[in-house]
Amino acid sequence: MNLALWLERTAAVSGDRPALMHGETVVADYSTFHARAAALAKALGARDIASGDRVALFMKNCPDYLVVLYGIWIAGAVAVPINAKLHAKEAAFIIGNAGAAVAFVTPDLGPALAEATDVLLIDVTSDRFAGMTSGEGRAAAPKDKDDLAWLFYTSGTTGRPKGVRITHGMLMATSLAYPVDVDAVSREDAALYAAPMSHGAGIYAPIHVLKGARHICPASGGFDADEVLDLSQQYGPISMFMAPTMVRRLTDRAKAAGRHGDGIKTIVYGGGPMYRADIEEAVDWFGPKFVQIYGQGECPMAISALSRDDVADRTHPRWRERLVSVGRAQSVVEVRIGDADGQPLGPGEIGEIMVRGLPVMPGYWENPEASAKALRDGWLMTGDVGVLDDDGYLTLQDRSKDVIISGGTNIYPREVEEALLTHASVHEVSVVGRPSAEWGEDVVAFVVAAPGKSFDPVALDAHCLSEIARFKRPKAYFEIAELPKNNYGKVLKTELRKRLEETT
Ligand code: AMP
Repeated sequence: MNLALWLERTAAVSGDRPALMHGETVVADYSTFHARAAALAKALGARDIASGDRVALFMKNCPDYLVVLYGIWIAGAVAVPINAKLHAKEAAFIIGNAGAAVAFVTPDLGPALAEATDVLLIDVTSDRFAGMTSGEGRAAAPKDKDDLAWLFYTSGTTGRPKGVRITHGMLMATSLAYPVDVDAVSREDAALYAAPMSHGAGIYAPIHVLKGARHICPASGGFDADEVLDLSQQYGPISMFMAPTMVRRLTDRAKAAGRHGDGIKTIVYGGGPMYRADIEEAVDWFGPKFVQIYGQGECPMAISALSRDDVADRTHPRWRERLVSVGRAQSVVEVRIGDADGQPLGPGEIGEIMVRGLPVMPGYWENPEASAKALRDGWLMTGDVGVLDDDGYLTLQDRSKDVIISGGTNIYPREVEEALLTHASVHEVSVVGRPSAEWGEDVVAFVVAAPGKSFDPVALDAHCLSEIARFKRPKAYFEIAELPKNNYGKVLKTELRKRLEETT
């Protein structure tokens, strides 16, 4: 089944309901949204875009993002959403790798991309685009659940990005698990796209289309804490996906402005580690509005979820330990911990997180070698290290490549980071391994000092001694003004390790 049928159906019964908003302005009801997407699909056909052909989006968040996405799906083609913060050369690499014939662009991104690629670029503010979205439409092309809907390029912090093949069936599984495992959705709600639509926020669009909710793209096209607070207050109930760093910024800003997030219904956070101190502070300030998810492009947004109650219910005897977990397996997947050979380990044993189920990818785009490594006997090897408890709560340690092995013992940076973050002078921290002739690797911490506090390695060392085992404490501390992060707000540990090589 074609995922775009959900739009067709919502337009049929709720055509006059507001669908797309740009900041405060409603730009399309569901009839118009569907009519424009269906017209675009027909226009793509007229340009020889056939079923299965790839069409790229190199666009900032905007309402037309969804028109293009659904136009591509109605045409039976495959969307290749590219992170708008990538360099034009990186975007051109993805377009080339995917073999996309056309790319839709926003005007800020088009000119640089035009220098880097030969493919046809269509600016969504152009007359040409207006023409393509205003003619007669077509019905959604027939699709099988295993047909490709989306090529999702991994962030590529280690090597070239790989295209994850995401099918219509996978997106349906992720979407239908959302109201079951994450949060109920009603047509009174609005999805606010504060995070890139090329990533998790966009993957959550279909369930909000199915339920006839509103879709709001901030006028800024990105994340601005004040704008998020304003839009929520005016147009709530709002649900949105945020990376942990965004939650942190939202909390800081809301506290400074004395605002408690009126209108925010749910913030789904994930995509990177959320530290205990940060989520406790966020819940203290905003109340029980948070749900965590753990996923990866290879199983989009759908490995596990930590429910609103798990995050907020401080009366539960295991609240604290669950708060640093990523919750329990979502309904559509099995999760297990495997040893080096992928054999199952029991509760309490640390190993690689493996996933099997409906939202797991069939493989990477034209990369059989990487696919064979990632998929073993039907299980996705996530590359994340974790542990399950007796109740099925999963705690992530770190990416396997980030685990520090010192004197033959595994040290999980996350644990050291959690300890350091409880010191008042630490605003942000990242812990990595530094090659050591004596120990194999030494633990090293990069620290961003809290505003008005000074960086004091001696005090931090004493703090670690009081919180964690001696051998885990950093052998060296470096002050850093800002942690290097990728476009999704994830700390680039590879970058930190490179800096260590350069300075030592
Ligand atoms: P991506 O494929 O770019 O979405 O990156 C997925 C990776 O982000 C996962 O394999 C994890 O390492 C990390 N990640 C995702 N969600 C969480 C979470 N809730 N907590 C900690 N790390 C996460």
